[in-house]
Amino acid sequence: MNLIERREPLPAEKPLAPQAHQVRSERGSIAIDKVSIVFDKGKDKHLAVAETSLDIRPGQFVSILGPSGCGKSTLLNCVAGYLQPTTGSITVDGETIAGPGPDRGMVFQQYSLFPWKTVRENVAFGPRMIGRAHPEGIADTFIAMVGLTKFAKRYPRELSGGMQQRVGIARALANYPRVLLMDEPFGALDSQTRHMMQENLLQIWSEFGTTVLFVTHDIDEAVFLSDRVLIMSASPGRIIADIPVNLPRPRDPDLAVDDEFIRLRRRCHEYIRAESLKAFEQQNS
Ligand code: ADP
Ligand code: MG
Repeated sequence: MNLIERREPLPAEKPLAPQAHQVRSERGSIAIDKVSIVFDKGKDKHLAVAETSLDIRPGQFVSILGPSGCGKSTLLNCVAGYLQPTTGSITVDGETIAGPGPDRGMVFQQYSLFPWKTVRENVAFGPRMIGRAHPEGIADTFIAMVGLTKFAKRYPRELSGGMQQRVGIARALANYPRVLLMDEPFGALDSQTRHMMQENLLQIWSEFGTTVLFVTHDIDEAVFLSDRVLIMSASPGRIIADIPVNLPRPRDPDLAVDDEFIRLRRRCHEYIRAESLKAFEQQNS
């Protein structure tokens, strides 16, 4: 973590708004219906995601946990609309997804900010593109939410990885998405920054109440954050377990020593170990 990051405290002391799971939004349901995804490379066809169906309720925080290469990003990219499923359909609030849209905010592992724009301009970009009034004002609201007000006029290169990722989250939320799609967003961060980001994300989620679909290969991260952990099999990916996480919120870092947390982690670990072994064998055969 660099000096800039340490000088900027996360807004952890603010009183919490009602929890998202207590005041559920009516928007943001996701229905994945018999979706399979095949990559067609000429003669070679590669089944990346085998037939998968799942429903996510508005406001839920759901993680997809699976070994590397199992199809997590592929499935998420279909919900984002960057890819079309080969069979089946995906709807958000009953509307079939035909392409990317501001109703689905995406945060990637690699910070995908415009390097030539300031933090404020990066976050204001989405609201400006869809013609909202006062895009800078909207940007400032979300920049404050991720605790970066003092850095609004900085450029991405002047920020640490963790700060850039907070800008990425602010930018995704500034479109008031129905769902927030996150693809290993903290994967490139050191572990301390990662833990702070997880807490910050939960706080934002509790205030904002949007549905979150969060891809990770980190078991502790999935259990700590989620209402529900979906386990994906080795390639071709399909959901092999749907594990409810009934730990109290707000989640506290001390949960790591809680009996129920440890039980859930062990359960996920058993699945992931078996699937990772399969993935390893596939990659070496
Ligand atoms: P994960 O995110 O779980 O690590 P991915 O969804 O990125 O896995 O990839 C799933 C499988 O699909 C992998 O075997 C990968 O090589 C393949 N794949 C991903 N994207 C493409 C693509 N654009 N063209 C062909 N194959 C792809
Ligand atoms: Mg991936």
